[in-house]
This record gives sequence, structure tokens and C-alpha cells, in this order.
Amino acid sequence: MLTSKRIALVAHTNKKQDLLTWARFNRELLAQHDLCSTATTGTMLEQELSLQITKLRSGPLGGDQQIGAKITEGELDFLIFFWDPLESQPHDSDVRALLRIAVVWNVPVACNRASADLIITSPLMNEAYQRHVPNYDPLSVPLDLSSNLGTLNNQ
Ligand code: PGA
Repeated sequence: MLTSKRIALVAHTNKKQDLLTWARFNRELLAQHDLCSTATTGTMLEQELSLQITKLRSGPLGGDQQIGAKITEGELDFLIFFWDPLESQPHDSDVRALLRIAVVWNVPVACNRASADLIITSPLMNEAYQRHVPNYDPLSVPLDLSSNLGTLNNQ
């Protein structure tokens, strides 16, 4: 039985051609999965692959954060993120936040063609995969600011 994965694809300007070439080569594999992308990357991929891709905002306008939110909500299985190691980005903080949150939630990330090749051809891509996620529950207890204030006031 084929199990489709939810895959996000993002590439910075100087890496877009790399991603398009990679995606063209792997079109038949990608077609088996649900794809989403930041706006510009997604538009280019749709034209290149003639596949339907859910397009989010452009990266510098919040698209990376939208992908990060999907990861946090458990809505992504795999991130392909060809970020540019040779040029700084106006949204560098968003880029780092996205890479960080992917690690927090143990989401596989491919940042170049070799790692994307290895992940997309993994036998696990076509199986249900139980991704281990640390138990963060104790950290998500909302802070009770009112009782802290009470403590401070009583001192
Ligand atoms: P873009 O965004 O696909 O809209 O170019 C990618 C990015 O720069 O993060």
C-alpha cells in the first residue's frame, strides 16, 4: 500500500534552479505525495512539474513561518529546504527558526540534492513511519502569571 507523505519544498533564489532540476528528475516520486511550497518556489515547481502544489506566502513574507507552523501542528512529514549558504537573506531569522523547529519536532530535512535524493528514495517514504517526538507536554503547561504576581506581591 502506498502511503503519501506531506512534503514542503523551499528554495532560496540562487538554489531554485537546483531544486527545479532535482524535482524534474524525481517528478514521478513527488507526484505520489502532498506538496506545499513557499509562493515563488511553488509557482516555479507547478510550471516545471505540472503538479498541484499548495502555495503559502513567499519566504520573506512569512512563508517559512507558515511551514514552521505546519511542522508544529504535525502537518508535515518531510522538509526539502535548499537554503543558500553563500548569501544572507532578509528573513534569515525565519530561516533559522524553520530549521530549528524541524529539529525540535524530528522532521527530516534535506538541504541539498544529495540528502533529498537519499530521503525521497528511502523505502520508508512508502510506508507508514512512526516519527518519534519527545514528550514536550510539561513545557506546554501555560505559565500562570497571576499566581507569580501574587507571590511577588506577598514578598
Ligand atoms: P519563495 O520563498 O519561494 O517565495 O522565494 C523562499 C524563501 O526565500 O524562503
